Amino acid sequence: MTRAYNFSAGPATLPETVLRQAQAEMLDWNGVGASIVELSHRGAEFMGVAAQAEADLRKLLSVPDDYAVLFLAGGATTQQALLALNFAAPGQVVDYIVTGHWGKTAIKQVKPYVDVHVAADGEPGGFHDIPSRAGWTLSPGAAYVHITANETIHGVEFRDTPDVGDVPLFADFSSSIASEPLDVSKYGLIYAGAQKNLGPVGISVLLVRRELLERAGQPRADIFNYASHAARDSMLNTPPTWNWYLLGLVVKWMLDEGGVEEFARRNAAKAELVYGAIDGSGGFYRNQVVPAVRSRMNIPFFLPDEALTSRFVSESKAAGLLALKGHKAVGGLRASLYNAVPVAGAQALVDFMRDFQQRNG
Ligand SMILES: *Cc1c(COP(=O)(O)O)cnc(C)c1O
Repeated sequence: MTRAYNFSAGPATLPETVLRQAQAEMLDWNGVGASIVELSHRGAEFMGVAAQAEADLRKLLSVPDDYAVLFLAGGATTQQALLALNFAAPGQVVDYIVTGHWGKTAIKQVKPYVDVHVAADGEPGGFHDIPSRAGWTLSPGAAYVHITANETIHGVEFRDTPDVGDVPLFADFSSSIASEPLDVSKYGLIYAGAQKNLGPVGISVLLVRRELLERAGQPRADIFNYASHAARDSMLNTPPTWNWYLLGLVVKWMLDEGGVEEFARRNAAKAELVYGAIDGSGGFYRNQVVPAVRSRMNIPFFLPDEALTSRFVSESKAAGLLALKGHKAVGGLRASLYNAVPVAGAQALVDFMRDFQQRNG
């Protein structure tokens, strides 16, 4: 068996070490005679797995003690809607900075509940840049300011945490969490669907400053209440135990590999390889994002025409390089270079790109 290099944007590649461990433990976890997914979430076995995953994630991301860490069923889109219900009063204004597709979906999810103010919008510039902080029109009484730390489709990334004053900064880190050191204390809340950089789809992680959980928010069912989830250690109802377990294995793997500093180094090396190949192609490959905000995780790039694009997708797949087709919203090609993509994978992609250009350029 050979595993291909997988550049999928999500669900995305997982570390082989993790998949092998899950495989080895599938029928009999830790000698108990059953798989971990066959055991009660309230039993000592799974409670241990859950607590270890939280402790490891806190260590990996240096999460301060005054932050709750929640493991929640559902994706990032679910959290996008819950933000308004939990942290804004009915009709209260919330500020959104839109730097790509996911910023727009974040707004769509809260529109029924709050007064959304778009304080900055990169769309007029084709989402090729992040509007400069000086031009943001923040609202003084906003419940929070929302940003998308890394735009998975448009390939635009905040390289610095913006200063938004006393209003809490909320950030969607779905596609860049744990990709480099992060100062959690600069954010009121960070959320991430796991299927890009943390594990399998079906579970999201939320880091939230505990004092924010005291906000009244809006009328909502208990199951949509983050404070209730926090009070019950994310076991208000049956959590997605398999996903939580796998996420724990991925986090442990990241710690074993050297933590976020090491992944920052690898991710910079991978991004440099691929952007280098694009910029050095004499215009055969193009990426239009302003270099200072180019994403290290998701690199959209374009060929001169559709026929070449389809040929690139099929030939790269045949060469063992998976999922390089771009998102339908922007077309072209896209390479996602999450933590579990090795530097050798980026090198293989770049070698293929140069060869493809030689044959077709
Ligand atoms: C993938 C993604 C989402 C949506 O995640 P779902 O799990 O499909 O809800 C939201 N934000 C960002 C930045 C993403 O990359």
